[in-house]
Amino acid sequence: MAKIQNVRGTYDLYGEAKRKAKKVIATGSATVEKYGFEEIETPIFEFTEVFSRNLGDTSDIVTKEMYCFEDRGGESLTLRPEGTAGVVRSFISEGMQQNLPVKLYYAGPMFRYERPQKGRQRQFTQFGCELLGVETPQADIELIAMAYEFVENLGLTGSVTVEINSLGDKESRDTYRTKLVSYLREYYDELSEDSKNRLEKNPLRVLDSKEECDKAVVANAPLYADSLNENSKKFFDTVLNGLSDLGISYRVNNRLVRGLDYYSHTVFELVTDKLGAQGTVLAGGRYDGLVEQMGGGNISGIGWACGVERLSMLLDAAPALPRPIAVIPVGEDTQQVALKIAYKLRRAGHHVELSYSGNLKKRMIKANKANAYLAVIIGSDELAAEQVTLKDLDKGEQKTIALTDLIKEIK
Ligand code: ATP
Ligand code: MG
Repeated sequence: MAKIQNVRGTYDLYGEAKRKAKKVIATGSATVEKYGFEEIETPIFEFTEVFSRNLGDTSDIVTKEMYCFEDRGGESLTLRPEGTAGVVRSFISEGMQQNLPVKLYYAGPMFRYERPQKGRQRQFTQFGCELLGVETPQADIELIAMAYEFVENLGLTGSVTVEINSLGDKESRDTYRTKLVSYLREYYDELSEDSKNRLEKNPLRVLDSKEECDKAVVANAPLYADSLNENSKKFFDTVLNGLSDLGISYRVNNRLVRGLDYYSHTVFELVTDKLGAQGTVLAGGRYDGLVEQMGGGNISGIGWACGVERLSMLLDAAPALPRPIAVIPVGEDTQQVALKIAYKLRRAGHHVELSYSGNLKKRMIKANKANAYLAVIIGSDELAAEQVTLKDLDKGEQKTIALTDLIKEIK
């Protein structure tokens, strides 16, 4: 039998960490809903091709990180490593092209076979959004503004910087690719094995390598900015001016590319220096070729996704649990009445901790541990007189009231 423990790189999320993660997702949802995004839930597994054909043959995800398996019917399936491919698959298979633009957001687990370390898990949670059907740079501005507002609503603008770059349109990317390949060929011997291989298949990927030897070569590689054609430059300037106009500060990072193949024009990341090597908390970009590549017609897309665990780690405090009312029966014969009172209070909207066992002293200690602000104490004698005792646990004051006045008293 397998050992009774979690799989490497997976974590149980509970207590404060779970509360932080919930806050990140709730804040994200509330933020993007203001921009008209609606939640979508796609399956956590898809046909393997949905990812293998669209994320790029040489991407880290496709070459070494996917959890693929054959199901009992012989189909090759993959646990989703990211959200965009599944959402675009759904956009196409559900025929959503009829009603553009489409604005969707999602939250849920993603799976990548990576080397586990701080901020890098094999199952992790992403919150992300996709805007389909808008070609103009206004979409890029709005999506980055939305990401910025999201971290602002989490109180994290002080810890996070917006980095942005443009990969340009197809023509610009081809120009750049040619320049990059001839540059990388000069340093061929210094590149990692992966990068030597990528040089032929997908040289842009070399820019995103995490190997030190590649980084050294990449440091002096030609800059994307010098290969952008007029059209791409104009697009990028509009995005940058738009952000400035909204008061959002950013840093143009000429080295920023993204790990997946489907990006064009704007790519951006929200980065922090507080999480060591895993400093990217949110990442996104424009993917104008993806829908077409997946067979859904020439429709633009742009989106971003954040690592919920990484953002959670930046939050100072977990949201506090609401302080409950403690309902404390004293003596066997008052148990059922206490249960009934607790039920009534909860239905009136209160958080209630019902005490199950122990003498009065023990029950009071438990009530304090639960951070209750008020105790409703029900003794046999009082019950006979249809009364209960209310004790303010912060001030220590108490009074006896008629049972019928309880709900009114507490409001
Ligand atoms: P990295 O460069 O850190 O590997 P990535 O480019 O692979 O990130 P994306 O595919 O852009 O990451 O995913 C978006 C976000 O999801 C990342 O910015 C990060 O916050 C989070 N993320 C990605 N992989 C993991 C992981 N294995 N564990 C935890 N969070 C992750
Ligand atoms: Mg990665």
